[in-house]
Amino acid sequence: MSRLDGLPCSRLLLVLLIPAALLFSDAIQGAEGIKALKQRSEIPERYKWSLDHIYSDHALWEKDCQAIEAMIPNMEQYKGTLAQSPDRMLEFFRARERLFLLYEKALSYAYLLKDQDTRDQVAIGMRDRIMNLGTKVSESVAWASPEIVAIAPEKIGDFLSRSDELAVYRHYLDDELRMKEHTLSPEEERIIALAGDVMRSPQEVMRTLRDTDIRFPTIVDSEGDEVVLSEGRYYAFMQGPDRRVRREAAEKLMTTYIGFQNTFASTMAANIARDIFNTRTRGYSSCLEASLDQDNVKVAVYENLIKAVTDNIAPLHKYVELRRKFMGLDEIHLYDMSAPLIPEVEEKVEYDDAVAMVKEALTPLGSDYLTQMSAGFESGWVDVCETEGKRTGAYSWGSYATHPYMLLNYNNTLDDVFTVAHEMGHSMHTYYTIHNQPYVYGEYTIFVAEVASTTNEALLMDYLLKKTTDLDKKLYLLSQWIDQIRGTLVTQTMFAEWEKLAHERAEAGEAITAESMSEVYHDVLRKYYGPHMTYDDYYDHTWVRIPHFYRNFYVYKYATSYAASAALSQNILKGKEGAVEAYLSFLKSGSSDYPIELLKKAGVDMSTPEPVEETMKLLGRLVDEMEQLMNQKKM
Ligand SMILES: [Zn+2]
Repeated sequence: MSRLDGLPCSRLLLVLLIPAALLFSDAIQGAEGIKALKQRSEIPERYKWSLDHIYSDHALWEKDCQAIEAMIPNMEQYKGTLAQSPDRMLEFFRARERLFLLYEKALSYAYLLKDQDTRDQVAIGMRDRIMNLGTKVSESVAWASPEIVAIAPEKIGDFLSRSDELAVYRHYLDDELRMKEHTLSPEEERIIALAGDVMRSPQEVMRTLRDTDIRFPTIVDSEGDEVVLSEGRYYAFMQGPDRRVRREAAEKLMTTYIGFQNTFASTMAANIARDIFNTRTRGYSSCLEASLDQDNVKVAVYENLIKAVTDNIAPLHKYVELRRKFMGLDEIHLYDMSAPLIPEVEEKVEYDDAVAMVKEALTPLGSDYLTQMSAGFESGWVDVCETEGKRTGAYSWGSYATHPYMLLNYNNTLDDVFTVAHEMGHSMHTYYTIHNQPYVYGEYTIFVAEVASTTNEALLMDYLLKKTTDLDKKLYLLSQWIDQIRGTLVTQTMFAEWEKLAHERAEAGEAITAESMSEVYHDVLRKYYGPHMTYDDYYDHTWVRIPHFYRNFYVYKYATSYAASAALSQNILKGKEGAVEAYLSFLKSGSSDYPIELLKKAGVDMSTPEPVEETMKLLGRLVDEMEQLMNQKKM
């Protein structure tokens, strides 16, 4: 329900190089069955997004593409001149923004057009065209960052004091210059850039092995059909009620991976060696420090996260035992942890009712939020229905050049209502940001990206729990909430701890072997899941199947983002004075400051362990409440 995909990098890079990162995608594992889907033409207009708000026809899109092509060569004239004067620098920033804005607009149109029907050959061609243009746009200004970093900070300071218009870029320039001491000479940087393909190879090799070469065995599903196991099916099986299927799927999947564990250990060793190379050449003291510095985050934040979760882990241990008893098991295994505690409440919610529910649940955010959001629901932001050829899952698309767009595949389940609240959280964050920030700060970083979406989910959860009197529905909602905290805060922190320990071993000169990596995993797994779990040895090798471990200290951001949103939503729900105003000003702040500072202004200080501790306490309260309800159910 709440996973994002993307890389931590500035908006400027993000827009041009990895457009997919623009969207905060929450893809749902697709059901693989065949079902007759509606055609797009059968869907009423009010349930479709309005792409004509971007271009009324393809010809206008084509005209802008030509304009972009004409603008690209003009960037060259600024090269080597940025240090001349504040006016010259400002002139370049503005010219670059005009180019980027037009590119974003054309990109949005082609991207969304293709997603509404992925079989549309015209849209596919448009998307390929705009992606190629993106590479050219990117190349045309690639010289700018190194040129800015080479200017003396005193000179930049002088520029900023002489021009109010340039002063808007103070934070942006500060962020560029911050990296100065870790930037090498142009010749050294050139050599490192040339090694780019080599640096990416550990991840590429791992992916090829995982996605292409590994063949999973078959398994008999609960309907008695023999199906080939896959990561997607594994995920679905783990959430199913049939224990025999869950156990077999876990055993077979992990055993298959274990057959390749030495190759995975080699790719992991190369991956960590790359991080160590970058750390040492750029003069950082550890891989962790080097990675976190991208977001200007201190190592203490990472260490606080691990300590605050593990010091307060008791509620999770209790939950494991509660689950065991409630499921009537002698032993509980990891493959029992995602099984439904209670079947999803068979409540069909029509889309219009979902919108009404979300509006009511988000009332605590105040009238301005509600007014803007309602307008969004009614003015072509959302593409609601599942239709033939449409991209699966759900996402929110944010761009400075358009209003927010949301792709849904709404299917009338309660879970879908949460998806609406989640994606609308992203969309409103985008909306407020682009209406309150200049272009240069008009995007938000991955570090804070999931805060607005999960805050909305928390408010919806609270609303539904308060409203419902039905015991089963209450238990269902509570188990969803607990599993969300377990999956996002606890599991991602456990991954983050493994990643830290694995790097530390390599940094101390120890060899990275399958045995040593599994040994580290063995220990963290027991520390987090505690004494009531029955552990199967094969789970010690779980590190082989987590692709995020190739993204250099990335997963902790899921955990910190979640803890921040939990703390903020609790403040809002408790009616803490100024909480809503602070939260809204955070939504309006884009990337105008470093993420930790932005969150501080919103009312949550991630440089202290408190928000994480509070979220673990919340988990404790939820588990206690669940225990009471379970007892009631037995009576
Ligand atoms: Zn999301």
